[in-house]
Amino acid sequence: MSGTRSGIGYDLHRLEAGRKLIVGGVVLPFEKGPAGHSDGDVLAHALCDALFGAAGLGDIGTHFPDSDPQWKGADSLIFLERAGELLDEHGFTIEYVDAVVILEKPKLGPHFPAMREILATALEVSADKIHLKAKTNEGVDSIGRGEAIAAWVVATVRVP
Ligand code: MG
Repeated sequence: MSGTRSGIGYDLHRLEAGRKLIVGGVVLPFEKGPAGHSDGDVLAHALCDALFGAAGLGDIGTHFPDSDPQWKGADSLIFLERAGELLDEHGFTIEYVDAVVILEKPKLGPHFPAMREILATALEVSADKIHLKAKTNEGVDSIGRGEAIAAWVVATVRVP
């Protein structure tokens, strides 16, 4: 077996006052942040699931269950580092990552260079393999009302 495979990842977290807004490992100045067992980084979580999907290795819940107290408040970059290691152990290499984060406010674009560097470092790939995009939800539904943040990620890996 050789060639490439792609996996998709999705995540959504509710936004609540008093939580830090962390996206792609970057802390953004904002009055609300994602509720969740870990730090609620939707981009890191969706990226993990995309990688696990491409490699056929389950999902983030299998590897880092939210019932496990060791992941309470966890830095989601740890999940990414472990996902990258697991893929490496199974002989997969990361070819490309394309992501979209959906959030009404604040603007994410200015933070993309920092996010790409952080995510690339966690996965031990070069930053040019990680492409990030942002959308608002045009004021529609929970994301549009500023009640939630979501991310979709497609990851492509080279099969051993
Ligand atoms: Mg999550």
